[in-house]
Amino acid sequence: LKKLQKKICDEGIVLSDSVLKVDSFINHQMDPKLMFEIGQEFVQRFEGKSITKVLTIESSGIAPAIMAALQLEVPLIFARKKKSLTLKDNVYTSKVYSFTKQEENEITVSKEFLEPNDKVLVIDDFLANGQAALGLIEIIKQANAEVSGIGIVIEKSFQNGGDKLRNLGYQVESLAQVSSLKNGEVQFLSQKLEEVTA
Ligand code: 5GP
Repeated sequence: LKKLQKKICDEGIVLSDSVLKVDSFINHQMDPKLMFEIGQEFVQRFEGKSITKVLTIESSGIAPAIMAALQLEVPLIFARKKKSLTLKDNVYTSKVYSFTKQEENEITVSKEFLEPNDKVLVIDDFLANGQAALGLIEIIKQANAEVSGIGIVIEKSFQNGGDKLRNLGYQVESLAQVSSLKNGEVQFLSQKLEEVTA
């Protein structure tokens, strides 16, 4: 998605060799039109997969996931990170180590929302080491449902999450693939920066 790459070039802030800040259009302020197009692109890339649910993790995954779910006309479920008094029993759980917060969270999904015949599309904002996606896959497996694929807004392909998930046989579709954040610069896997900003 060229528009997304341009936005990353124009507004993304490289915080370190491994962390990209996109607070002006994804992680704090959001760009609804861009999010809608992100949802549209996911729908195209997973066409023919007969998806019945979209699953993400709160909170940054919710915006791209709801846009995909809206256009697929299926429900969106977001895994909760905090224990809720209203969500105690009858839940699937898995442990996810957070790359940005450097802490382990137990994520939870109520059993009532995932069924064995569901075909589930996993969506998240970033893919780094794959912990969030693997945690969501674990929950889908607990429900005996099927993983239809994994849609990622920004994959950092210099980290190993993408390889891990693809080696497990999953279809991983990333709308922007960042190959390096070295020297404060964003490099993309398939396109040179000049081509994107031209
Ligand atoms: P993983 O679980 O694949 O190691 O990391 C993905 C999760 O960590 C995403 O849910 C995302 O919220 C967060 N994350 C990982 N890398 C970055 C990054 O460079 N920037 C931002 N804003 N979030 C990131």
